[in-house]
Amino acid sequence: MSVLVLADHDLGTLSPATARVVNAVAQLGPVDVLVIGEGVDEVAKAAASLVGVAKVLISQSDAFASAPADSAVALLETLAVRYQFVATSAGSVGRDVIPRLAAKLDLMPITDVVKILGPNSFERPIYAGNAVQTVTSNQPRQLLTLRASAFRAAASGNAAPIEPVVATGITTTAKIIAAHRTESDTPDLATAQIVVGGGVSVGSAEGFKLIETLAKKLGAAVGATRAAVDAGYAPNDWQVGQTGKIIAPDLYIAIGISGALQHLAGIQGAKKIVAINTDAEAPLSKLADVLLVGDLFDVVPQLIAELDRL
Ligand code: FAD
Repeated sequence: MSVLVLADHDLGTLSPATARVVNAVAQLGPVDVLVIGEGVDEVAKAAASLVGVAKVLISQSDAFASAPADSAVALLETLAVRYQFVATSAGSVGRDVIPRLAAKLDLMPITDVVKILGPNSFERPIYAGNAVQTVTSNQPRQLLTLRASAFRAAASGNAAPIEPVVATGITTTAKIIAAHRTESDTPDLATAQIVVGGGVSVGSAEGFKLIETLAKKLGAAVGATRAAVDAGYAPNDWQVGQTGKIIAPDLYIAIGISGALQHLAGIQGAKKIVAINTDAEAPLSKLADVLLVGDLFDVVPQLIAELDRL
């Protein structure tokens, strides 16, 4: 049985999510990785270096840059017949591509997979992470999106062959006209090993600088609650939870966060939780492995000062 993984990449860099997807699906069979875009030679080389990759297919066209989902589906439709599994991460591209491909191939997509039990059996969270559903599918081909943070990354050190694939006759109806990016030198939130999250009690965008300073000292990504995002204290793409990003870091430091169900839906994969809260009875305080009861404006500067001393 063979697997085709659609690579995630941005600004010429392979996303860490792809290494995790490759590692997860390697148990299903030999893995080929498809890299599409324009000027993506370095991305293809990075994909070829992942252990478990048999071959990298590279298809370069400006159609992939201007309308990635439409064009990706047109190419995948022709390639999918050679594979039993087509998989990618459950990021914005995967969520766009896989359902469209499923409609074209008349298959049921299996989305947000967090565990692969076998070739026809997968676990995925439902009801905002409050239950885990086991899906068994006897379809001839499985189309999967995987929550990358639930899996370990494939190591690098491989040198798989890279083969060009010509994409012909791609017609698109959509076009990307602009991309607005948040500049950040912190790690990717969805795959970071440490995340420092701030709640609405941080009080202002200026207050979030304190959260960012602590995150930088720890080499961590910054997250936020929806209340903090709605208040304008943190950008949209920092939101963690049911309607934000799903994270699974080794360590989550939750600062001034109550632990509403919708936030908890995004942090269930966190291995250790440290909560800093004035309220020892807050729902997240009860869930935390370590609870620091105190005012974040006292505790966080002390933590930063201690880290500076190291
Ligand atoms: P609060 O609940 O107000 O909690 C603030 C906490 O800070 C309290 O525990 C308080 O004790 C503590 N505190 C106050 N002052 C200090 C201080 N000085 N120092 C330390 N601690 C202090 N939320 C998400 O986060 N992600 C989602 O994806 C999401 N999706 C949603 C989807 C829907 C459909 C709905 C209805 C809601 C969603 N929410 C989501 C919102 C969610 O219900 C909560 O409102 C939100 O998570 C609360 O954010 P918070 O913890 O920052 O604020």
